[in-house]
Amino acid sequence: MKQMAALRGVLTDEEQDLICPIRYLHNPLQSSAPYLYQTHLSFPSTYLNFRNLNDPTFSTFSTLEGSIPYCSSIPAAYESKYWRESIEAARTFVHLLATDKDMADIEIRDGLTLRKIAQHELRPGFKHRCMRATAYMYPFCVEPRKLEILAVLMVMQFLFDEDKCEGADEKQVPVLVADFLRRLEDPAVTVNKSRTALQAYLDSIISDIHGGGGETGNGGAEVYLEMRKTFTYLRPRAPITSIGDYLEFRRENVSAGFVFAGIKFSLASNVDIHQPLLERFMTWAADHLAITNDLYSYAKEMRAFRNGTCPDLINIVAILEKLLSLPNQSSALEITYALLLQREQWMFEELKKFEASGCLDEGTWMFLRGVWACLSGNTLYSMTCERYGGEAARIAENRDFVPPVNGPPDMGKRP
Ligand SMILES: [Mg+2]
Repeated sequence: MKQMAALRGVLTDEEQDLICPIRYLHNPLQSSAPYLYQTHLSFPSTYLNFRNLNDPTFSTFSTLEGSIPYCSSIPAAYESKYWRESIEAARTFVHLLATDKDMADIEIRDGLTLRKIAQHELRPGFKHRCMRATAYMYPFCVEPRKLEILAVLMVMQFLFDEDKCEGADEKQVPVLVADFLRRLEDPAVTVNKSRTALQAYLDSIISDIHGGGGETGNGGAEVYLEMRKTFTYLRPRAPITSIGDYLEFRRENVSAGFVFAGIKFSLASNVDIHQPLLERFMTWAADHLAITNDLYSYAKEMRAFRNGTCPDLINIVAILEKLLSLPNQSSALEITYALLLQREQWMFEELKKFEASGCLDEGTWMFLRGVWACLSGNTLYSMTCERYGGEAARIAENRDFVPPVNGPPDMGKRP
């Protein structure tokens, strides 16, 4: 497979052959911010090796070693080596969606049908879009089937997220989702019905979510509960007047609860992810998921807002620009990046406190390590998917990463 010079330092040539190919690198910043630099916040080493780091089930990215537009201080991200299985499961689901006789022609709005959404997602290059996220966000997943399940649920969320243009267009829950949720609620609902291939595929997913228990962990029940919440919280209930209000809304809106349940599920864990000791850490982790998405998707959402395809701009960059009276977008993007680095520092200090006090059990540490990897994985996904940067972010082969003309000369690393 061809090697990309832009990934030099991040992966060896050998490792580049093992990963889902990277062909896009999106730099969300528009200016250099020398006062912001990455500080290498490694997960506490005492607890790093519960599973062997040479574990053959994932690849490791040295995210701070190259010159990629990676906006985080977490020095490692990972990709499950089951990435092919997860992309294939997501692709199968979207293909069934595009061809299903009962579902495909249901109109969502203004002539937009499920078939059109699905066909659009299946166009060439699908592995460079949302389907690549799952293997980055749940890299320590213990078995391919669990990753496949997460991949299908994630792609479903991404597709409807696209449709509601990231939170702007509140409307009825699409028929497919309503049907899926009914099935989640009561798998027996389908027993006496003739089923389409799509419904049969979803039923097998549901049955395997519910199947988790005992030694395979009890995360399936939480994935199910959180999945039900995913299709609500589309827009703020009241005008946003503070960053705190916005983040409170956005933690729900970004489906952080689903992501955390998914991490637990991927690890086949029985950990209590709502234990009070973890509350602050998990709140900041949810902020991180939301702010990372806002940072990397800002340019795309701003374009959609300006050209009228999306009626609102629900993004922290716009909120910060207004609430802090910042002079322009590029300074608001810098402050957004600063908020991310700040959350990471707070979480890191919390991890050090946990380490010093010895108050957490092994299962909880495994989960936290999964969360830490999920945050860097979400950053890696946001940076490498075509979804946010478009063709402008495509890497020129055999060249180092070159930021956009008006972009920063570097990512603000300490000289
Ligand atoms: Mg967004």
